[in-house]
Amino acid sequence: MFKGILIEKDESGYRATLKEIDDTELPEGDVTVRVSHSTLNYKDGLAITGKGPVVRKFPMVPGIDLVGVVEESSHPEFTPGDQVLLNGWGVGENHWGGLAQKARLKGDWLLPLPAQFSPQQVMAIGTAGYTAMLCVLALERHGVKPQDGEILVTGAAGGVGSVALAVLSKLGYTAVAVTGRPEDAEYLKSLGAAEVLERALFSSPGKPLGKERWAGAVDVAGGHVLANVCATTKYRGVVTACGLAAGMDFPASVAPFILRGVTLAGIDSVMCPRADRRVAWQRLGTDLDIEKLQKISQVVGLSEALPLARKLMNGEIRGRVIVDVNQ
Ligand code: NDP
Repeated sequence: MFKGILIEKDESGYRATLKEIDDTELPEGDVTVRVSHSTLNYKDGLAITGKGPVVRKFPMVPGIDLVGVVEESSHPEFTPGDQVLLNGWGVGENHWGGLAQKARLKGDWLLPLPAQFSPQQVMAIGTAGYTAMLCVLALERHGVKPQDGEILVTGAAGGVGSVALAVLSKLGYTAVAVTGRPEDAEYLKSLGAAEVLERALFSSPGKPLGKERWAGAVDVAGGHVLANVCATTKYRGVVTACGLAAGMDFPASVAPFILRGVTLAGIDSVMCPRADRRVAWQRLGTDLDIEKLQKISQVVGLSEALPLARKLMNGEIRGRVIVDVNQ
């Protein structure tokens, strides 16, 4: 038996509870992992609260991230005792995830624990931080350099935003934070924000084109926020879009793309090929100040993950939540 959060949906409703689960109920897979830590990402919040249609099968163990030690393996790359990392691949959505003491997974989804980090540090980064790195890599791939100008980061006090600020500032970019929590300005500056702007400046319907300011952007919000970011991006600037915290829609015009040559780069972490993941984790090892991880993250136990998921959905969590599944 092992402890885990189980999401169930039946005639009595949708609920997530902490349960004792029998090993025989684990899904199929060629690697069994003794999980040490998982995290709470926005998607886990949606899954646990049922606020978004994230869970595709019931019952489901949520948790899109996990780190742990291989207990059994018939996969050629992994043997018992190996420390492994998993982010995404539909885990926590249509295959049992990391918010439990045990997981059975496809070995093809796993990476060895990146050498630069402890299990706890790797979860302080988690999918949110690895996605922030994918955004930075996309900016680089499209040729955005520190000397080109300011990079806007929306949802800056959240998980993706916090790591994006830390990485961009270490790489020498001038990062400007957008937040709905101006009281967190000092926190955002300590992560590397050169300036902090209020979310309200971006949240309402805007003009197709505004004054050019951003050389690049990391957007976690979507909706009017993304539309306004594109409208104020400089000639040939690059906007990376990874999230929908403000909405799934994109109420914009093509003006920034056809008149200013702005590039909108979509970022997906879930099905991202393994080779690109390795690059992202290796770059996190060199381009993120490990000391900042402590500032960004808090550690909680499995039972605390349930109320915290609700807080995350209400925008009340700053940075990243690490879940020690044995606590
Ligand atoms: P968090 O909940 O940690 O952060 C989200 C932040 O967005 C909040 O902290 C808040 O920041 C801001 N925000 C909340 N509501 C709104 C709103 N209505 N308008 C504008 N901003 C808002 O989530 P994560 O950082 O983990 O994820 C952020 C987004 O990125 C989510 O939509 C998530 O689904 C997506 N994502 C996508 C991935 C992919 O593969 N494409 C992978 C990982 C995440 P503040 O208080 O500073 O304003």
